[in-house]
Amino acid sequence: MGIKGRIHSIETMGTLDGPGIRFVIFTQGCPLRCAYCHNPDTWDPLGGFVIDVEEIFNKILRYKTYMDFSGGGVTLSGGEPTLQPDFAAELFKRCKNAGINTALDTSGYCEQKDLAKILPYTDLVLFDVKHPNQKEHIKLTGKDNEKIIQNLSFIDSMGVKIWIRYVLVPGITDSPELIKKLADFLTLFRSIEKVEILPYHNLGVHKWKALGLNYPLSKINPPSAEDIKKSKKILLDRGLKVS
Ligand code: SF4
Repeated sequence: MGIKGRIHSIETMGTLDGPGIRFVIFTQGCPLRCAYCHNPDTWDPLGGFVIDVEEIFNKILRYKTYMDFSGGGVTLSGGEPTLQPDFAAELFKRCKNAGINTALDTSGYCEQKDLAKILPYTDLVLFDVKHPNQKEHIKLTGKDNEKIIQNLSFIDSMGVKIWIRYVLVPGITDSPELIKKLADFLTLFRSIEKVEILPYHNLGVHKWKALGLNYPLSKINPPSAEDIKKSKKILLDRGLKVS
């Protein structure tokens, strides 16, 4: 019997989660409860469906031409893919053996030993930083960020390339003081290649409703282009590459 994973869905030609055209696998289960989550239907670790590594790898191979042509690859996202370390490691191992680029999209809220299984086969980590302040982090995600910071240091020490992702939420994560604090923090890591500023959006609200959940940020609107530019400038001025 091969290793199995529990996944929510697959996107065969993704362009948002890593370089080039990507085969994106959204895994099922997440320990965080981000107030702006646009995939709350991935939270339940028993939801989604079960698939064998072999089966999903064979699907991936069908898209290899697109990946090769575009400099793309495979991205494991979620949910939180590190919750299924054996599945992630085996899938990435097969990808690496086939010359396919691998990206792990994680919140970093996981056990270091699980990350250690996956990182040897990972080309890029898309690492979500949710909030630079401990207390606010708990408010925004339901968990503290201690483990997350330790794991970012661990990935950095392994020399795996990192792209930071930061969701700009007006009134919650966008003050200039916070962005400066974020910049100070990020400049401590040598493997960070760039920071992606993701403007908050509320396109996932219907999913919260469908699950019978109250959407906590219903009164918040997406940031203006000007505000996004200001935040990016603070990071750029600190020598960070930003997109
Ligand atoms: S880490 Fe991602 S999937 Fe999990 S709650 Fe936060 S936004 Fe949603």
